[in-house]
Amino acid sequence: ESNKLPLFEAIAGHEPESTAVVHSLSGRRFKYGELLGDVARTRDQLLSATGKTSLNGERIAFLVENSYDYVVTLLAAFAARSLAVPLSPAFPAAELQYIINQSQAAIVVNSAKFAGRARDVLATGLEYQPAQLEIRKHLGGGPHEKIELEDVDFGGAGMMLYTSGTTNRPKGVLLPQSVLTAQARSLIEAWEYSSRDHLLHVLPLHHIHGTVNALLTPLFAGSAIEFLFPFNPSVVWSRLAAPLVASPQPNNKNNNNDSNDSNTTPPKEKITFFTVVPTVYSRLLSSHKDLPPDLSEAARDAVSPTHMRLAISGSAALPTPIKDAWRRLSRGTVLLERYGMTEVGMALSCGLRVADRVDASVGWPLPGVQARLADLDTGAILPEGPEGRDRPGEIQLRGPTIFKEYWRNPAATAKEFVPDDESPTNRNGTGNESQNTQRDAGRWFRTGDVAVRRAVSGAGAGAGQPGGEGGAQPWAKGDMYFILGRKSADIIKTGGEKVSALEVERELLSLDEVSEAAVVAVPSGKWGQKVGAVVILNRDVVPEGARWSPMDMRRALRHRLANYKIPQVLRVVDHIPRNAMGKINKKELVKEVFADHFS
Ligand code: ATP
Ligand code: MG
Repeated sequence: ESNKLPLFEAIAGHEPESTAVVHSLSGRRFKYGELLGDVARTRDQLLSATGKTSLNGERIAFLVENSYDYVVTLLAAFAARSLAVPLSPAFPAAELQYIINQSQAAIVVNSAKFAGRARDVLATGLEYQPAQLEIRKHLGGGPHEKIELEDVDFGGAGMMLYTSGTTNRPKGVLLPQSVLTAQARSLIEAWEYSSRDHLLHVLPLHHIHGTVNALLTPLFAGSAIEFLFPFNPSVVWSRLAAPLVASPQPNNKNNNNDSNDSNTTPPKEKITFFTVVPTVYSRLLSSHKDLPPDLSEAARDAVSPTHMRLAISGSAALPTPIKDAWRRLSRGTVLLERYGMTEVGMALSCGLRVADRVDASVGWPLPGVQARLADLDTGAILPEGPEGRDRPGEIQLRGPTIFKEYWRNPAATAKEFVPDDESPTNRNGTGNESQNTQRDAGRWFRTGDVAVRRAVSGAGAGAGQPGGEGGAQPWAKGDMYFILGRKSADIIKTGGEKVSALEVERELLSLDEVSEAAVVAVPSGKWGQKVGAVVILNRDVVPEGARWSPMDMRRALRHRLANYKIPQVLRVVDHIPRNAMGKINKKELVKEVFADHFS
Protein backbone atom coordinates (compact mmCIF):
# COMPACT_ATOMS: atom_id res chain seq x y z
CA GLU A 1 0.00 0.00 0.00
CA SER A 2 1.17 3.51 -0.85
CA ASN A 3 2.36 5.86 1.85
CA LYS A 4 2.30 8.73 -0.55
CA LEU A 5 0.68 11.83 0.80
CA PRO A 6 -2.92 11.74 -0.51
CA LEU A 7 -2.70 15.41 -1.49
CA PHE A 8 0.44 14.81 -3.58
CA GLU A 9 -1.12 11.77 -5.14
CA ALA A 10 -4.19 13.80 -6.06
CA ILE A 11 -2.09 16.62 -7.54
CA ALA A 12 0.03 14.15 -9.55
CA GLY A 13 -3.22 12.84 -11.01
CA HIS A 14 -4.56 16.21 -12.20
CA GLU A 15 -4.31 17.26 -15.84
CA PRO A 16 -0.79 18.80 -15.97
CA GLU A 17 -1.79 21.63 -18.30
CA SER A 18 -4.70 22.73 -16.12
CA THR A 19 -4.41 25.85 -14.01
CA ALA A 20 -3.64 25.41 -10.34
CA VAL A 21 -3.06 29.00 -9.26
CA VAL A 22 -3.65 32.39 -10.83
CA HIS A 23 -2.54 35.78 -9.53
CA SER A 24 -5.51 37.96 -10.23
CA LEU A 25 -3.74 41.28 -10.56
CA SER A 26 -0.75 40.27 -12.67
CA GLY A 27 -2.49 37.47 -14.54
CA ARG A 28 0.41 35.15 -13.81
CA ARG A 29 -0.56 31.51 -13.98
CA PHE A 30 0.83 28.27 -12.60
CA LYS A 31 -0.15 24.82 -13.78
CA TYR A 32 -0.73 21.62 -11.87
CA GLY A 33 2.04 20.02 -13.92
CA GLU A 34 4.70 22.30 -12.43
CA LEU A 35 3.49 22.32 -8.84
CA LEU A 36 5.12 19.17 -7.44
CA GLY A 37 8.47 19.98 -9.06
CA ASP A 38 8.47 23.37 -7.36
CA VAL A 39 7.41 21.72 -4.10
CA ALA A 40 10.28 19.22 -4.29
CA ARG A 41 12.84 21.95 -4.94
CA THR A 42 11.56 24.11 -2.11
CA ARG A 43 11.54 21.12 0.20
CA ASP A 44 15.19 20.59 -0.65
CA GLN A 45 15.85 24.23 0.15
CA LEU A 46 14.21 23.73 3.56
CA LEU A 47 16.13 20.56 4.25
CA SER A 48 19.50 21.93 3.24
CA ALA A 49 18.93 25.04 5.35
CA THR A 50 18.47 22.82 8.38
CA GLY A 51 21.00 20.19 7.41
CA LYS A 52 18.47 17.44 7.99
CA THR A 53 16.90 14.79 5.80
CA SER A 54 13.49 15.06 7.40
CA LEU A 55 11.95 17.63 9.67
CA ASN A 56 9.71 15.05 11.19
CA GLY A 57 7.10 16.99 13.15
CA GLU A 58 9.19 20.17 13.50
CA ARG A 59 7.42 23.44 12.93
CA ILE A 60 8.09 25.66 9.94
CA ALA A 61 6.52 29.07 10.37
CA PHE A 62 6.14 31.08 7.19
CA LEU A 63 5.36 34.60 6.17
CA VAL A 64 4.45 34.57 2.49
CA GLU A 65 1.86 36.65 0.62
CA ASN A 66 -1.25 35.02 -0.87
CA SER A 67 0.31 33.64 -4.01
CA TYR A 68 1.67 30.54 -5.72
CA ASP A 69 4.73 30.85 -3.47
CA TYR A 70 2.51 30.45 -0.44
CA VAL A 71 1.09 27.23 -1.90
CA VAL A 72 4.54 25.88 -2.71
CA THR A 73 5.87 26.73 0.76
CA LEU A 74 2.95 25.07 2.50
CA LEU A 75 3.27 21.91 0.43
CA ALA A 76 7.05 21.90 0.77
CA ALA A 77 6.64 21.94 4.53
CA PHE A 78 4.43 18.85 4.18
CA ALA A 79 7.00 17.25 1.89
CA ALA A 80 9.69 17.86 4.51
CA ARG A 81 7.34 16.08 6.94
CA SER A 82 7.06 19.12 9.12
CA LEU A 83 4.18 21.03 10.63
CA ALA A 84 3.46 24.13 8.59
CA VAL A 85 2.58 27.20 10.64
CA PRO A 86 1.24 29.95 8.37
CA LEU A 87 1.74 33.45 9.78
CA SER A 88 -0.41 36.42 8.93
CA PRO A 89 1.49 39.35 7.44
CA ALA A 90 -1.25 41.55 8.90
CA PHE A 91 -0.36 40.61 12.47
CA PRO A 92 1.64 43.03 14.59
CA ALA A 93 5.14 41.85 15.51
CA ALA A 94 4.11 40.91 19.04
CA GLU A 95 1.43 38.58 17.74
CA LEU A 96 3.86 36.92 15.33
CA GLN A 97 6.39 36.52 18.13
CA TYR A 98 3.75 34.93 20.34
CA ILE A 99 3.06 32.32 17.65
CA ILE A 100 6.74 31.69 16.90
CA ASN A 101 7.52 31.28 20.59
CA GLN A 102 4.50 29.11 21.21
CA SER A 103 5.10 26.83 18.23
CA GLN A 104 8.90 26.77 18.78
CA ALA A 105 9.35 26.88 15.01
CA ALA A 106 12.74 25.64 13.85
CA ILE A 107 12.77 27.96 10.86
CA VAL A 108 10.92 31.09 9.93
CA VAL A 109 10.52 31.17 6.17
CA ASN A 110 9.71 34.35 4.33
CA SER A 111 9.19 35.53 0.78
CA ALA A 112 11.30 38.37 -0.62
CA LYS A 113 8.42 40.70 0.02
CA PHE A 114 8.47 40.06 3.76
CA ALA A 115 12.22 39.79 4.28
CA GLY A 116 12.40 43.00 6.30
CA ARG A 117 9.41 42.10 8.35
CA ALA A 118 10.76 38.66 9.17
CA ARG A 119 14.07 40.19 10.19
CA ASP A 120 12.32 42.65 12.52
CA VAL A 121 10.22 39.95 14.09
CA LEU A 122 13.25 37.74 14.67
CA ALA A 123 15.47 40.52 15.94
CA THR A 124 13.96 40.87 19.42
CA GLY A 125 11.26 39.49 21.63
CA LEU A 126 11.82 35.79 21.00
CA GLU A 127 12.61 33.19 23.61
CA TYR A 128 15.02 31.47 21.24
CA GLN A 129 16.66 32.04 17.88
CA PRO A 130 15.00 30.24 14.96
CA ALA A 131 16.76 30.06 11.60
CA GLN A 132 15.54 32.39 8.88
CA LEU A 133 15.19 31.35 5.26
CA GLU A 134 14.01 33.21 2.21
CA ILE A 135 12.33 30.99 -0.32
CA ARG A 136 13.08 31.38 -3.98
CA LYS A 137 10.44 33.11 -6.01
CA HIS A 138 8.53 30.98 -8.50
CA LEU A 139 7.78 32.68 -11.74
CA GLY A 140 5.64 30.10 -13.44
CA GLY A 141 6.07 28.58 -16.85
CA GLY A 142 8.69 26.22 -15.46
CA PRO A 143 9.35 22.79 -16.87
CA HIS A 144 6.43 20.41 -16.62
CA GLU A 145 8.54 17.65 -15.22
CA LYS A 146 6.40 14.94 -13.82
CA ILE A 147 7.64 14.70 -10.27
CA GLU A 148 5.88 12.51 -7.85
CA LEU A 149 7.03 13.01 -4.32
CA GLU A 150 8.52 9.93 -2.72
CA ASP A 151 6.55 7.26 -1.08
CA VAL A 152 7.61 7.97 2.50
CA ASP A 153 5.95 7.99 5.87
CA PHE A 154 4.30 11.37 6.18
CA GLY A 155 3.34 10.74 9.79
CA GLY A 156 4.86 13.95 11.15
CA ALA A 157 3.51 16.22 8.42
CA GLY A 158 0.60 18.53 8.92
CA MET A 159 -0.43 22.00 9.74
CA MET A 160 -0.70 24.04 12.85
CA LEU A 161 -3.31 26.74 12.67
CA TYR A 162 -3.99 29.24 15.39
CA THR A 163 -7.59 29.96 16.33
CA SER A 164 -8.93 33.41 15.56
CA GLY A 165 -8.38 34.57 19.13
CA THR A 166 -11.94 35.84 19.44
CA THR A 167 -12.41 34.70 23.02
CA ASN A 168 -8.84 34.43 24.24
CA ARG A 169 -5.25 34.29 23.02
CA PRO A 170 -5.07 32.16 19.87
CA LYS A 171 -4.52 28.46 20.51
CA GLY A 172 -2.33 26.30 18.28
CA VAL A 173 -4.41 23.53 16.76
CA LEU A 174 -2.57 20.45 15.55
CA LEU A 175 -3.99 19.16 12.27
CA PRO A 176 -2.19 16.05 11.03
CA GLN A 177 -2.34 15.04 7.36
CA SER A 178 -4.99 12.45 8.09
CA VAL A 179 -7.26 15.14 9.48
CA LEU A 180 -6.64 17.57 6.61
CA THR A 181 -7.29 14.80 4.11
CA ALA A 182 -10.52 13.78 5.83
CA GLN A 183 -11.67 17.39 5.90
CA ALA A 184 -10.97 17.87 2.20
CA ARG A 185 -12.74 14.65 1.24
CA SER A 186 -15.78 15.57 3.29
CA LEU A 187 -16.03 18.98 1.62
CA ILE A 188 -15.48 17.58 -1.88
CA GLU A 189 -18.36 15.20 -1.33
CA ALA A 190 -20.63 17.90 0.07
CA TRP A 191 -19.82 20.87 -2.15
CA GLU A 192 -18.71 18.93 -5.24
CA TYR A 193 -15.50 20.83 -5.98
CA SER A 194 -14.07 19.73 -9.31
CA SER A 195 -11.53 20.58 -11.96
CA ARG A 196 -14.23 22.70 -13.61
CA ASP A 197 -14.27 25.08 -10.64
CA HIS A 198 -12.43 28.37 -10.62
CA LEU A 199 -12.32 29.92 -7.15
CA LEU A 200 -11.75 33.52 -6.33
CA HIS A 201 -9.69 33.55 -3.13
CA VAL A 202 -9.86 36.76 -1.10
CA LEU A 203 -9.33 35.45 2.44
CA PRO A 204 -6.36 35.52 4.76
CA LEU A 205 -4.31 32.32 4.61
CA HIS A 206 -3.70 31.61 8.26
CA HIS A 207 -7.18 30.37 9.16
CA ILE A 208 -9.05 27.21 8.33
CA HIS A 209 -11.53 28.96 6.00
CA GLY A 210 -8.82 30.34 3.72
CA THR A 211 -6.44 27.38 3.93
CA VAL A 212 -8.60 24.25 4.02
CA ASN A 213 -11.87 25.27 2.38
CA ALA A 214 -10.45 27.63 -0.19
CA LEU A 215 -6.99 26.16 -0.82
CA LEU A 216 -6.22 22.57 0.19
CA THR A 217 -9.63 21.21 -0.78
CA PRO A 218 -9.63 22.75 -4.26
CA LEU A 219 -6.04 21.52 -4.74
CA PHE A 220 -7.25 18.03 -3.92
CA ALA A 221 -10.05 18.40 -6.46
CA GLY A 222 -7.98 19.97 -9.24
CA SER A 223 -9.83 23.29 -9.20
CA ALA A 224 -8.16 26.58 -10.13
CA ILE A 225 -7.47 29.00 -7.28
CA GLU A 226 -7.19 32.66 -8.10
CA PHE A 227 -5.67 34.91 -5.44
CA LEU A 228 -6.91 38.45 -5.13
CA PHE A 229 -5.62 39.89 -1.90
CA PRO A 230 -6.07 42.05 0.08
CA PHE A 231 -9.81 42.11 -0.33
CA ASN A 232 -11.04 45.21 -2.04
CA PRO A 233 -14.73 45.24 -3.00
CA SER A 234 -14.51 47.26 -6.20
CA VAL A 235 -11.54 45.26 -7.49
CA VAL A 236 -13.41 42.05 -6.69
CA TRP A 237 -16.46 43.29 -8.57
CA SER A 238 -14.36 44.15 -11.65
CA ARG A 239 -12.77 40.74 -11.57
CA LEU A 240 -16.08 38.92 -11.14
CA ALA A 241 -17.53 40.85 -14.07
CA ALA A 242 -14.45 40.43 -16.29
CA PRO A 243 -15.75 37.48 -18.35
CA LEU A 244 -18.91 39.45 -19.15
CA VAL A 245 -17.54 42.85 -20.14
CA ALA A 246 -15.85 43.62 -23.44
CA SER A 247 -13.52 46.34 -22.20
CA PRO A 248 -10.24 45.51 -20.49
CA GLN A 249 -10.31 45.41 -16.74
CA PRO A 250 -9.50 48.68 -15.02
CA ASN A 251 -7.29 46.88 -12.55
CA ASN A 252 -4.84 45.48 -15.06
CA LYS A 253 -1.91 47.20 -13.44
CA ASN A 254 0.98 45.18 -12.26
CA ASN A 255 1.07 46.72 -8.87
CA ASN A 256 2.55 43.69 -7.27
CA ASN A 257 6.22 43.36 -7.98
CA ASP A 258 5.62 40.05 -9.63
CA SER A 259 5.99 40.84 -13.18
CA ASN A 260 8.30 42.43 -15.60
CA ASP A 261 7.26 40.19 -18.42
CA SER A 262 4.58 40.98 -20.92
CA ASN A 263 2.90 37.67 -21.59
CA THR A 264 0.56 37.79 -18.68
CA THR A 265 -3.04 38.73 -19.36
CA PRO A 266 -5.74 39.42 -16.81
CA PRO A 267 -7.72 36.28 -16.05
CA LYS A 268 -11.14 36.08 -17.64
CA GLU A 269 -12.44 32.73 -16.51
CA LYS A 270 -15.77 32.94 -14.84
CA ILE A 271 -15.68 32.50 -11.11
CA THR A 272 -17.73 29.44 -10.20
CA PHE A 273 -16.92 29.15 -6.52
CA PHE A 274 -16.68 31.79 -3.84
CA THR A 275 -16.36 31.29 -0.11
CA VAL A 276 -16.04 34.21 2.31
CA VAL A 277 -17.19 35.60 5.64
CA PRO A 278 -20.45 37.55 6.05
CA THR A 279 -18.71 40.93 6.29
CA VAL A 280 -17.23 40.38 2.82
CA TYR A 281 -20.71 39.91 1.36
CA SER A 282 -21.87 42.97 3.20
CA ARG A 283 -19.02 45.11 1.85
CA LEU A 284 -19.62 43.80 -1.67
CA LEU A 285 -23.29 44.67 -1.38
CA SER A 286 -22.61 48.25 -0.36
CA SER A 287 -19.86 48.75 -2.92
CA HIS A 288 -22.03 47.43 -5.75
CA LYS A 289 -24.10 50.63 -5.55
CA ASP A 290 -21.08 52.65 -6.69
CA LEU A 291 -20.24 50.63 -9.79
CA PRO A 292 -20.66 52.22 -13.22
CA PRO A 293 -23.87 50.98 -14.93
CA ASP A 294 -22.31 48.57 -17.47
CA LEU A 295 -20.12 46.98 -14.86
CA SER A 296 -22.98 46.87 -12.39
CA GLU A 297 -25.11 44.67 -14.65
CA ALA A 298 -22.22 42.39 -15.61
CA ALA A 299 -21.34 42.04 -11.94
CA ARG A 300 -24.87 40.96 -11.13
CA ASP A 301 -24.76 38.37 -13.89
CA ALA A 302 -21.37 37.13 -12.73
CA VAL A 303 -22.75 36.19 -9.31
CA SER A 304 -26.05 34.85 -10.62
CA PRO A 305 -26.70 31.12 -10.41
CA THR A 306 -25.94 30.68 -14.12
CA HIS A 307 -22.32 31.74 -13.63
CA MET A 308 -21.43 31.21 -10.01
CA ARG A 309 -22.06 27.64 -9.02
CA LEU A 310 -21.65 28.10 -5.30
CA ALA A 311 -21.38 31.07 -2.97
CA ILE A 312 -20.67 30.12 0.63
CA SER A 313 -20.72 32.05 3.88
CA GLY A 314 -19.21 31.08 7.21
CA SER A 315 -16.89 31.83 10.15
CA ALA A 316 -19.60 33.96 11.74
CA ALA A 317 -23.40 33.96 11.61
CA LEU A 318 -24.83 35.09 8.28
CA PRO A 319 -27.40 37.85 8.89
CA THR A 320 -30.58 37.09 6.95
CA PRO A 321 -30.76 40.64 5.48
CA ILE A 322 -27.38 40.03 3.82
CA LYS A 323 -28.57 36.69 2.48
CA ASP A 324 -31.76 38.31 1.13
CA ALA A 325 -29.92 41.25 -0.38
CA TRP A 326 -27.43 38.92 -2.09
CA ARG A 327 -30.27 36.86 -3.50
CA ARG A 328 -31.89 39.99 -4.97
CA LEU A 329 -28.65 41.41 -6.34
CA SER A 330 -27.57 38.14 -7.91
CA ARG A 331 -30.99 37.30 -9.30
CA GLY A 332 -31.42 34.19 -7.29
CA THR A 333 -28.16 33.01 -5.71
CA VAL A 334 -28.96 31.74 -2.23
CA LEU A 335 -25.86 31.82 -0.06
CA LEU A 336 -24.98 28.48 1.46
CA GLU A 337 -24.14 28.76 5.15
CA ARG A 338 -21.90 26.37 7.00
CA TYR A 339 -20.42 26.14 10.48
CA GLY A 340 -16.88 25.17 11.40
CA MET A 341 -13.91 25.98 13.56
CA THR A 342 -10.13 25.65 13.53
CA GLU A 343 -10.32 22.51 15.67
CA VAL A 344 -12.75 20.60 13.49
CA GLY A 345 -12.67 22.07 10.01
CA MET A 346 -16.18 22.25 8.66
CA ALA A 347 -18.75 20.40 10.75
CA LEU A 348 -22.23 21.42 9.64
CA SER A 349 -23.38 22.63 6.26
CA CYS A 350 -26.47 23.42 4.31
CA GLY A 351 -26.94 21.47 1.10
CA LEU A 352 -26.45 22.21 -2.58
CA ARG A 353 -30.19 22.27 -3.35
CA VAL A 354 -31.65 25.74 -2.86
CA ALA A 355 -34.34 24.19 -0.64
CA ASP A 356 -31.55 22.96 1.61
CA ARG A 357 -30.17 26.46 2.30
CA VAL A 358 -32.60 27.39 5.02
CA ASP A 359 -32.40 30.87 6.59
CA ALA A 360 -30.47 31.00 9.88
CA SER A 361 -29.61 27.30 9.65
CA VAL A 362 -26.17 25.78 9.20
CA GLY A 363 -27.66 22.54 7.96
CA TRP A 364 -26.58 19.03 8.82
CA PRO A 365 -23.41 17.19 9.90
CA LEU A 366 -21.10 16.93 6.88
CA PRO A 367 -20.06 13.53 5.52
CA GLY A 368 -17.85 11.77 8.05
CA VAL A 369 -18.82 14.11 10.91
CA GLN A 370 -20.91 12.93 13.84
CA ALA A 371 -22.67 15.58 15.89
CA ARG A 372 -24.70 15.60 19.07
CA LEU A 373 -26.06 18.18 21.48
CA ALA A 374 -25.40 18.16 25.22
CA ASP A 375 -27.88 19.83 27.58
CA LEU A 376 -26.39 23.10 28.86
CA ASP A 377 -27.19 22.44 32.49
CA THR A 378 -26.97 18.68 32.91
CA GLY A 379 -24.63 17.69 30.08
CA ALA A 380 -27.06 14.93 29.13
CA ILE A 381 -27.10 14.10 25.44
CA LEU A 382 -30.31 15.31 23.84
CA PRO A 383 -32.21 12.64 21.95
CA GLU A 384 -32.40 12.96 18.17
CA GLY A 385 -35.77 13.47 16.54
CA PRO A 386 -38.94 15.01 17.98
CA GLU A 387 -38.01 14.70 21.66
CA GLY A 388 -34.76 16.61 21.31
CA ARG A 389 -36.15 19.33 19.07
CA ASP A 390 -35.88 23.00 20.00
CA ARG A 391 -33.75 22.24 23.03
CA PRO A 392 -30.50 24.19 23.16
CA GLY A 393 -27.38 22.13 23.67
CA GLU A 394 -23.62 22.41 23.25
CA ILE A 395 -22.47 20.95 19.95
CA GLN A 396 -20.14 17.99 20.37
CA LEU A 397 -18.38 16.42 17.42
CA ARG A 398 -16.32 13.42 16.54
CA GLY A 399 -14.88 11.68 13.52
CA PRO A 400 -11.74 11.70 11.38
CA THR A 401 -11.98 15.46 10.68
CA ILE A 402 -11.46 16.47 14.31
CA PHE A 403 -8.05 17.85 15.42
CA LYS A 404 -5.68 15.90 17.56
CA GLU A 405 -4.64 18.31 20.28
CA TYR A 406 -3.95 21.88 21.23
CA TRP A 407 -0.24 22.47 20.80
CA ARG A 408 1.61 22.39 24.10
CA ASN A 409 -1.62 22.75 26.02
CA PRO A 410 -2.64 19.35 27.37
CA ALA A 411 -4.89 20.99 29.95
CA ALA A 412 -7.02 22.66 27.28
CA THR A 413 -7.04 19.47 25.20
CA ALA A 414 -8.20 17.41 28.16
CA LYS A 415 -10.87 19.93 29.04
CA GLU A 416 -12.39 20.12 25.57
CA PHE A 417 -12.71 16.39 24.96
CA VAL A 418 -15.35 14.38 26.75
CA PRO A 419 -13.44 11.70 28.66
CA ASP A 420 -13.87 8.20 27.25
CA ASP A 421 -15.68 6.88 30.26
CA GLU A 422 -18.40 9.49 29.79
CA SER A 423 -18.98 8.38 26.22
CA PRO A 424 -21.19 5.38 25.71
CA THR A 425 -18.97 4.05 22.90
CA ASN A 426 -15.44 2.76 22.48
CA ARG A 427 -14.80 0.92 25.67
CA ASN A 428 -12.47 -2.10 25.94
CA GLY A 429 -9.42 -0.60 24.18
CA THR A 430 -6.52 -3.01 24.08
CA GLY A 431 -3.93 -0.27 23.92
CA ASN A 432 -2.48 -1.22 20.56
CA GLU A 433 -2.00 1.31 17.79
CA SER A 434 -5.20 0.80 15.81
CA GLN A 435 -7.27 0.79 18.94
CA ASN A 436 -5.77 4.12 19.87
CA THR A 437 -6.62 5.63 16.53
CA GLN A 438 -10.09 4.30 16.87
CA ARG A 439 -10.36 5.78 20.30
CA ASP A 440 -9.15 9.15 19.06
CA ALA A 441 -11.78 9.14 16.35
CA GLY A 442 -14.23 8.23 19.05
CA ARG A 443 -13.53 11.04 21.49
CA TRP A 444 -16.22 13.72 21.46
CA PHE A 445 -14.97 17.29 21.18
CA ARG A 446 -16.84 20.06 22.99
CA THR A 447 -17.09 22.95 20.56
CA GLY A 448 -18.25 25.55 23.09
CA ASP A 449 -20.97 26.53 20.61
CA VAL A 450 -24.66 26.09 21.28
CA ALA A 451 -27.31 25.03 18.78
CA VAL A 452 -30.86 23.74 18.53
CA ARG A 453 -32.25 21.23 16.08
CA ARG A 454 -35.48 21.88 14.27
CA ALA A 455 -37.50 19.94 11.75
CA VAL A 456 -37.72 21.91 8.51
CA SER A 457 -40.27 20.60 6.08
CA GLY A 458 -39.13 20.33 2.50
CA ALA A 459 -35.46 20.51 3.41
CA GLY A 460 -32.98 17.65 3.29
CA ALA A 461 -33.44 14.06 2.37
CA GLY A 462 -36.50 14.01 4.65
CA ALA A 463 -36.11 12.27 7.99
CA GLY A 464 -37.73 8.88 7.87
CA GLN A 465 -38.72 9.23 4.22
CA PRO A 466 -37.20 6.29 2.40
CA GLY A 467 -34.80 7.32 -0.30
CA GLY A 468 -35.26 11.03 0.30
CA GLU A 469 -36.84 13.30 -2.27
CA GLY A 470 -35.92 15.66 -5.06
CA GLY A 471 -32.22 14.98 -5.23
CA ALA A 472 -31.24 16.07 -1.72
CA GLN A 473 -27.76 14.92 -0.77
CA PRO A 474 -27.78 11.75 1.29
CA TRP A 475 -25.87 13.25 4.23
CA ALA A 476 -28.33 16.16 4.43
CA LYS A 477 -30.92 14.35 6.45
CA GLY A 478 -32.91 14.70 9.64
CA ASP A 479 -33.42 17.83 11.70
CA MET A 480 -31.44 20.93 10.83
CA TYR A 481 -29.03 22.73 13.17
CA PHE A 482 -29.41 26.39 14.10
CA ILE A 483 -26.49 28.06 15.90
CA LEU A 484 -27.38 30.07 19.00
CA GLY A 485 -23.84 31.23 19.68
CA ARG A 486 -20.91 30.64 21.97
CA LYS A 487 -21.66 29.15 25.35
CA SER A 488 -19.18 31.56 26.94
CA ALA A 489 -20.39 34.79 25.38
CA ASP A 490 -23.65 34.45 23.48
CA ILE A 491 -25.91 32.57 25.85
CA ILE A 492 -27.17 35.29 28.14
CA LYS A 493 -28.70 34.20 31.42
CA THR A 494 -31.24 36.74 32.46
CA GLY A 495 -33.68 36.19 35.32
CA GLY A 496 -33.60 32.41 34.94
CA GLU A 497 -34.08 32.52 31.15
CA LYS A 498 -31.47 31.82 28.51
CA VAL A 499 -31.29 34.18 25.58
CA SER A 500 -29.29 33.60 22.41
CA ALA A 501 -27.36 36.72 21.45
CA LEU A 502 -27.37 35.52 17.84
CA GLU A 503 -31.14 35.29 17.75
CA VAL A 504 -31.51 38.83 19.07
CA GLU A 505 -28.84 40.09 16.64
CA ARG A 506 -30.80 38.58 13.77
CA GLU A 507 -33.91 40.52 14.74
CA LEU A 508 -32.01 43.75 15.29
CA LEU A 509 -30.36 43.38 11.90
CA SER A 510 -33.69 42.88 10.20
CA LEU A 511 -34.74 46.40 11.29
CA ASP A 512 -34.21 49.11 8.68
CA GLU A 513 -32.73 51.40 11.32
CA VAL A 514 -29.85 49.07 12.16
CA SER A 515 -26.85 48.32 9.98
CA GLU A 516 -24.66 46.39 12.44
CA ALA A 517 -25.42 44.83 15.79
CA ALA A 518 -23.74 42.92 18.59
CA VAL A 519 -25.71 41.59 21.51
CA VAL A 520 -23.84 41.04 24.77
CA ALA A 521 -24.41 40.01 28.36
CA VAL A 522 -24.28 43.03 30.66
CA PRO A 523 -23.85 42.32 34.37
CA SER A 524 -26.94 43.10 36.42
CA GLY A 525 -27.51 42.94 40.16
CA LYS A 526 -31.18 42.19 39.69
CA TRP A 527 -31.20 39.78 36.75
CA GLY A 528 -27.76 38.24 36.92
CA GLN A 529 -27.25 39.40 33.35
CA LYS A 530 -29.08 41.84 31.14
CA VAL A 531 -29.40 41.66 27.40
CA GLY A 532 -27.38 44.55 25.97
CA ALA A 533 -27.44 45.77 22.38
CA VAL A 534 -24.60 47.60 20.65
CA VAL A 535 -25.70 48.93 17.28
CA ILE A 536 -24.51 50.98 14.37
CA LEU A 537 -27.42 52.89 12.87
CA ASN A 538 -28.27 53.00 9.22
CA ARG A 539 -27.84 56.70 8.51
CA ASP A 540 -30.07 56.51 5.43
CA VAL A 541 -32.95 55.75 7.79
CA VAL A 542 -31.96 57.52 11.00
CA PRO A 543 -30.15 60.66 9.81
CA GLU A 544 -27.12 61.97 11.63
CA GLY A 545 -28.27 63.87 14.68
CA ALA A 546 -31.62 62.04 14.95
CA ARG A 547 -32.13 59.74 17.89
CA TRP A 548 -33.01 56.08 18.07
CA SER A 549 -33.87 55.48 21.67
CA PRO A 550 -34.15 52.31 23.71
CA MET A 551 -37.93 52.91 23.49
CA ASP A 552 -37.79 52.96 19.68
CA MET A 553 -35.81 49.74 19.76
CA ARG A 554 -38.24 48.06 22.13
CA ARG A 555 -41.22 49.12 20.08
CA ALA A 556 -39.60 47.81 16.91
CA LEU A 557 -38.79 44.43 18.45
CA ARG A 558 -42.06 43.97 20.34
CA HIS A 559 -43.70 41.67 17.81
CA ARG A 560 -40.49 39.92 16.88
CA LEU A 561 -39.09 38.73 20.19
CA ALA A 562 -40.43 37.54 23.53
CA ASN A 563 -40.28 40.28 26.12
CA TYR A 564 -37.34 38.86 28.08
CA LYS A 565 -35.25 38.65 24.92
CA ILE A 566 -35.63 42.32 24.02
CA PRO A 567 -32.43 44.19 24.98
CA GLN A 568 -32.77 46.15 28.19
CA VAL A 569 -29.87 48.44 27.43
CA LEU A 570 -28.81 49.97 24.15
CA ARG A 571 -25.67 51.72 23.01
CA VAL A 572 -25.37 53.37 19.62
CA VAL A 573 -21.78 53.39 18.36
CA ASP A 574 -19.89 54.29 15.18
CA HIS A 575 -17.69 51.24 15.03
CA ILE A 576 -17.75 47.65 16.28
CA PRO A 577 -14.23 46.17 16.36
CA ARG A 578 -13.79 42.85 14.53
CA ASN A 579 -10.79 40.61 13.95
CA ALA A 580 -9.42 39.47 10.57
CA MET A 581 -12.26 36.98 10.19
CA GLY A 582 -14.95 39.55 10.91
CA LYS A 583 -15.57 38.30 14.43
CA ILE A 584 -16.28 40.27 17.56
CA ASN A 585 -14.58 39.73 20.92
CA LYS A 586 -17.65 40.26 23.05
CA LYS A 587 -15.82 40.12 26.36
CA GLU A 588 -13.81 43.15 25.29
CA LEU A 589 -16.70 44.87 23.59
CA VAL A 590 -19.00 44.75 26.60
CA LYS A 591 -16.28 46.02 28.94
CA GLU A 592 -15.60 48.90 26.63
CA VAL A 593 -19.12 49.91 25.69
CA PHE A 594 -20.88 49.16 28.96
CA ALA A 595 -17.98 50.17 31.23
CA ASP A 596 -20.44 51.95 33.51
CA HIS A 597 -22.15 48.62 34.30
CA PHE A 598 -18.99 47.08 35.70
CA SER A 599 -18.11 47.97 39.23
P1 ATP B 1 -10.86 31.49 19.65
O1 ATP B 1 -11.17 30.05 19.71
O2 ATP B 1 -9.41 31.79 19.62
O3 ATP B 1 -11.59 32.31 20.65
P2 ATP B 1 -12.54 31.53 17.31
O4 ATP B 1 -13.35 30.52 18.02
O5 ATP B 1 -13.28 32.70 16.71
O6 ATP B 1 -11.38 32.08 18.24
P3 ATP B 1 -12.18 30.03 14.90
O7 ATP B 1 -11.81 28.63 15.12
O8 ATP B 1 -11.61 30.72 13.71
O9 ATP B 1 -11.71 30.86 16.16
O10 ATP B 1 -13.74 30.21 14.80
C1 ATP B 1 -14.65 29.22 15.13
C2 ATP B 1 -15.91 29.82 15.70
O11 ATP B 1 -16.58 30.65 14.75
C3 ATP B 1 -16.94 28.78 16.08
O12 ATP B 1 -16.63 28.19 17.32
C4 ATP B 1 -18.22 29.59 16.07
O13 ATP B 1 -18.40 30.25 17.30
C5 ATP B 1 -17.98 30.62 14.99
N1 ATP B 1 -18.68 30.26 13.72
C6 ATP B 1 -18.19 29.65 12.62
N2 ATP B 1 -19.12 29.51 11.67
C7 ATP B 1 -20.26 30.03 12.17
C8 ATP B 1 -21.59 30.19 11.68
N3 ATP B 1 -21.95 29.81 10.46
N4 ATP B 1 -22.50 30.78 12.50
C9 ATP B 1 -22.16 31.21 13.74
N5 ATP B 1 -20.93 31.09 14.25
C10 ATP B 1 -19.98 30.52 13.48
MG1 MG C 1 -12.75 28.92 19.26
